[in-house]
Amino acid sequence: MRVVALIVAAGRGTRAGQGLPKQYRPVGGTPVLRRCLDVFSSHPRIDNVLTVIHVDDCDLYGHASEGCDSLLPVAFGGATRQASVLAGLETLCDSPPTHVLIHDGARPFVSHSLIDRVLDALQDHEAALPSLPVSDTLRRSDGGIAGETVDRVALVRAQTPQGFSFDAIIKAHREAGSDVFTDDIAVAAAAGIKAALVAGAEENFKVTEPQDFSRAEQFLAARAETRTGSGFDVHRFCEGDKVTLCGIAIPHTHALLGHSDADVALHAITDALLGAIGEGDIGVHFPPSDPQWKGAPSRLFLEHAVTLLKAKQGRLNNIDLTIICEAPKITPHREQLRKSLADILGVSLGRVSLKATTTEGLGFTGRGEGIAAQAIATVSLPRTADVHE
Ligand code: MG
Repeated sequence: MRVVALIVAAGRGTRAGQGLPKQYRPVGGTPVLRRCLDVFSSHPRIDNVLTVIHVDDCDLYGHASEGCDSLLPVAFGGATRQASVLAGLETLCDSPPTHVLIHDGARPFVSHSLIDRVLDALQDHEAALPSLPVSDTLRRSDGGIAGETVDRVALVRAQTPQGFSFDAIIKAHREAGSDVFTDDIAVAAAAGIKAALVAGAEENFKVTEPQDFSRAEQFLAARAETRTGSGFDVHRFCEGDKVTLCGIAIPHTHALLGHSDADVALHAITDALLGAIGEGDIGVHFPPSDPQWKGAPSRLFLEHAVTLLKAKQGRLNNIDLTIICEAPKITPHREQLRKSLADILGVSLGRVSLKATTTEGLGFTGRGEGIAAQAIATVSLPRTADVHE
């Protein structure tokens, strides 16, 4: 099996508000489409992901897909969803996959297990449809009067990704021509292809209206857990005339000794953030033995930790930093240091706290031998270890 996931994201749907097509609007800080791309591109049985976008959305897509693996160059959509799918399928013809999964770019909570069910069904069938039962009683509407009951046992709600043998679905789409169908299973059915039903998932809903985005935010909030990490670091003084704290050079009678720029505050925060997401410590990612980090600005280390957090679909809630020294005096620089931290972390100022203390002349900091820093980071992460399960 060679499988391509074809994500349909060429729609103009702006009903959801904010003036952006809905697939680019964020939920939980991440664009809807990016959530889809992450799930498919991280699935071990998906070889490539092809996205069909609107020609006006190149910049939006570039931003939303930045750093995502396994993506093929985009295809540009047509006037209808059906035309967009066909345009995507045609671009795959040079190197055709055996199977294709066609997914709505507005269903951000598709899971690996749902994708597995569709792929499993494709072992024995030309097409597979994830679906859900209808639980409400269905009636016809007859001019404002309740009409006859429709037998719901014979009905299902269709979702995506809909899976197909590639040869069968591209033939069906080509044959469909200008006939209009509501989804790809309907296109396939018109060509005589039978689709196996597999279990869909309630959370795999489509976001279209503003209330769908509220539901999406609630879903993520219910799935999130709070985690905390702590970090501690010390650097000794050496000869020099400034120290770097939170990325800002502060004049002093000494400098701090270290392999990098010895920014003790950023090192403590980096370790706190890595601790919160279970990713070891700063030395694991940036070994002091590696000459490329000599004199490096420590904001690189912290930015890397933030990237790891985002890769886990996590969010930084807050940082609480304490700098421990007799001198230099931190308080006059506090707001400048906080602003620098907020900038590096990509969060608002209110999420960054900076405190300073002395040790009353006691210990190594009291004797003016160096500076210590400790930090606590609190983050919000999806509850499951594998975020897509
Ligand atoms: Mg250090």
